[in-house]
Amino acid sequence: MTSPKRAVVIGAGFGGLALAIRLQSAGYNTVLLEKRDKPGGRAYVYEDQGFVFDAGPTVITDPTCLEELFALSGRRMADYVELLPVTPFYQLHWADGTTFDYVNDQAQLDRQIASMSPRDVDGYRRFLAYSEALLEEGYVKLGHVPFPDFRSMVRVAPQLIALQSYRSVYAKVSSYLTNEKLRQAFSFHSLLVGGNPFATSAIYALIHALERKWGVWFPRGGTGSLIRGLVRLFEDLGGKIHLSSPVGRISTSNGAVTGVITEDGRSFPAGIVASNADVVHTYTKLLADEPRATSTARSLTAKRFSMSLFVIYFGLRRSHPQLEHHMVLFGPRYKGLITEIFSGSKLPSDFSLYLHAPSVTDPSLAPPGCSTYYVLSPVPHLGHAAIDWSIEGPRYRDTILRYLEERVIPGLRADLVTCRIFTPNDFCHELNAHLGSAFSLEPILTQSAYFRAHNADKRVEGLYLVGAGTHPGAGIPGVVGSAKATAGIIIEANPPQAGMS
Ligand SMILES: Cc1cc2nc3c(=O)[nH]c(=O)nc-3n(C[C@H](O)[C@H](O)[C@H](O)COP(=O)(O)OP(=O)(O)OC[C@H]3O[C@@H](n4cnc5c(N)ncnc54)[C@H](O)[C@@H]3O)c2cc1C
Repeated sequence: MTSPKRAVVIGAGFGGLALAIRLQSAGYNTVLLEKRDKPGGRAYVYEDQGFVFDAGPTVITDPTCLEELFALSGRRMADYVELLPVTPFYQLHWADGTTFDYVNDQAQLDRQIASMSPRDVDGYRRFLAYSEALLEEGYVKLGHVPFPDFRSMVRVAPQLIALQSYRSVYAKVSSYLTNEKLRQAFSFHSLLVGGNPFATSAIYALIHALERKWGVWFPRGGTGSLIRGLVRLFEDLGGKIHLSSPVGRISTSNGAVTGVITEDGRSFPAGIVASNADVVHTYTKLLADEPRATSTARSLTAKRFSMSLFVIYFGLRRSHPQLEHHMVLFGPRYKGLITEIFSGSKLPSDFSLYLHAPSVTDPSLAPPGCSTYYVLSPVPHLGHAAIDWSIEGPRYRDTILRYLEERVIPGLRADLVTCRIFTPNDFCHELNAHLGSAFSLEPILTQSAYFRAHNADKRVEGLYLVGAGTHPGAGIPGVVGSAKATAGIIIEANPPQAGMS
């Protein structure tokens, strides 16, 4: 008589949840341990006076990668959560008053591009074709397969070289489009996964085709309701989740994992341990006692990390029908600002903002007649800029709210009912994110695929990783793809019913 193998997943972000669901669906006894009092990780939820704030991801792309998690056990995502289409995908604003509705309608796109730069209509078509080719090679074929060794990288190199993935997103977009605003409109997306458009591999230009192919969605009730749907699925399958359970240590014996121990001393034995926690935190803190983890800890700590974010969550006592759900407010500078965000030693004096107004799509996220928002500003991580956020945070908040009031939300400050901020310090302390990075390892070519943290550790048997620091990287489709890659390796190496563990 055999019994199912036990697996522990550390961290209930999208990646951890997706992996736990895959393992439980495949027949492992899976336990999910989460540090915070709610699941979701970056997709945490704050609630105050009837306002509901999704803390992080709000642009849901490629719903098929989520549907697949439900289909593994013959279920339907629609029975757990409803996804609402969002249009325009984004509304882009520049300081001179120009706006651009980033939509999925070709005629509307052509019209807007023509009004800004007639010769770029054709260039856009060629860019879309390029982006679609990237999507096929970089996401459909490779977005969920692991890169365990250098050979696996060499095998895919010819296709990636043919697509000029060694160039930056901005350089490639600029080879198709001449208008600077259009170049910004079609290159800023890599910022959504922590990549500098001027340094990140052009592979990330695939995000445009990904959005056009599958659309942009928002769950009814907010991203939090999608997280709750995933937790319910995991529990319906028999999985166990423990919240407020920070793991203090991954225990090992003779170079193999034996389980985990929580900070309050509870022990969870398992022969399979997968960490969705930050990769540096995993190797430097959770495996501090394991000599086989030392060299990986050192090499990960030496890598480049993506920028951090400053986020303001606020609720207003009136609604603003003039706003769209997702708005990007470009500041006066693009390249100069991004360079300072990624490598500057202080807080830039200007900013570009993403404004999220979810009650445009789902009014239930605010009390009747009110509206819910968050606004985020990309900022340097703590390793570059030693900013005292306890002092700078409230100041920066006031500057941004004043700016929003002047540009897009008249009367904002007089209408404030609730307001809270999340700074790089919070990424560091609340989420254990190395240097307070919002997206983990910076997605540059030399830190992608085989060069990212591996989904399976080579030296510590039974140790696996999942989430933004692993292949393919940050963003919901990325981390859900990483869960597929990691689950595949686990299932191959440890068939679920092959004996006691
Ligand atoms: C503000 C913001 C907006 C974003 N917007 C979008 C968007 O619109 N669309 C999109 O696709 N992506 C977006 N992203 C990116 C996306 O949210 C992330 O890449 C993704 O959610 C990361 O998932 P993850 O699985 O790597 O884990 P995380 O969400 O980082 O979760 C890791 C979990 O591990 C837990 N943990 C850490 N240490 C321990 C420990 N010792 N013991 C137990 N648990 C531990 C943490 O508490 C956390 O819950 C956004 C990110 C941010 C920050």
